[in-house]
Amino acid sequence: MFDLDLTQPEPIPAAGIDEAVSLMQSGRLFRYNGDAAVRLEVAFAELTGSKHALAVNSGGSSIFLSLIAAGVQPGDTVLLGGFTLAPVPGAIVHAGARPILVDVTEDLVIDTDDLRAKADQARFFLLSHMRGHISNMAEIMAIAAEFDLIVIEDCAHTLGATWDGKASGTFGIAGCYSLQTYKHLNCGEGGVLVTDDADLAARAIIHSGSYMHYQHHQARPPLEVFERWRAITPNYSMRLTNLAAALALPQIPLLAERAERMNRAYNHLATRLRSLAGVRVPKRDPREAFIGSSIQFFPTASRSQLQEFTQRCADAGLPLGWFGRERMEGFTSRPAQWDYLQERELPETEDILANLMDLRIPPAMTIDHCDAAVDIINTALTAVRERP
Ligand SMILES: *Cc1c(COP(=O)(O)O)cnc(C)c1O
Repeated sequence: MFDLDLTQPEPIPAAGIDEAVSLMQSGRLFRYNGDAAVRLEVAFAELTGSKHALAVNSGGSSIFLSLIAAGVQPGDTVLLGGFTLAPVPGAIVHAGARPILVDVTEDLVIDTDDLRAKADQARFFLLSHMRGHISNMAEIMAIAAEFDLIVIEDCAHTLGATWDGKASGTFGIAGCYSLQTYKHLNCGEGGVLVTDDADLAARAIIHSGSYMHYQHHQARPPLEVFERWRAITPNYSMRLTNLAAALALPQIPLLAERAERMNRAYNHLATRLRSLAGVRVPKRDPREAFIGSSIQFFPTASRSQLQEFTQRCADAGLPLGWFGRERMEGFTSRPAQWDYLQERELPETEDILANLMDLRIPPAMTIDHCDAAVDIINTALTAVRERP
């Protein structure tokens, strides 16, 4: 039996617990009645090298706000890769817009040929660095420049990651982060939007529910920018609480060490999984400095064999996400299952996702855990392949 609970997060540092307790004693939980959320924004701007940052109540909210503050209007189209998490197409629909789905490659990055082919169908490209896979940013930004696309990056799994030395989240007009429990910083629920664009920042701050307290922000543009937007920007009340910000703040200095532990596990898992017959692990571009908070692999097997394979792994205590499941389950879904979309056909990506397995890598996962996981995977795969 596998003896690590892959859903077990790291504990909240003592400094976060202490500040949370004193915040509760003071009652100053609302972000405009204290400064923890403001400090988190300043820290994020610094961490990502961005001019402005806005803390909100979820990663999905940070994407929604980026879209509308970048100018997405009801009825607009937004390009989106077909390998992503449900809140990403959800944010586009929330903005009243419609995704134009783009293929991903078997290495789980954007298929730049398909992006180029569809680039004239939208003004916006929501680039989701799903499961931490960063696409070829040089090529993507060249396509964006050629077709005048506004790029927004979903960095839920790339906080601290770079491509060719540049921080993910700083290529497009805005970068969006999640502070939900399964991400690199955990305060239960939360999100952060970063941008260098003054108008986008001011609009997002007012939309997020600043009331007329936006001057209270520090990682914000000058007040005159808000004058342009204050009367014409509705309040959608998507604020982060000071309590959540206080829990996230002292985790920032721990990010690098957490990433090191996860990457050690990732590299070990990747080497061992690649050594198994009929298992493919996506290749990673040497320019990508990623955070290995999960690993993806593709066993060659039939649908019914994969069904039994995931069941055997789960029975051995190793839950795997499988993107090819008949019905959406847990966190994994694929475009064909987003029935709320009219256009969701993406046959090449569906073929790739049909065999895609996902294994979460919490920072607590040791090399011994990795070996145990690969042994379970190998045993299960061998067993199901022996069947006709
Ligand atoms: C977690 C996640 C989000 C945002 O999720 P929330 O639950 O809304 O914070 C967005 N994109 C990806 C790829 C994610 O993994």
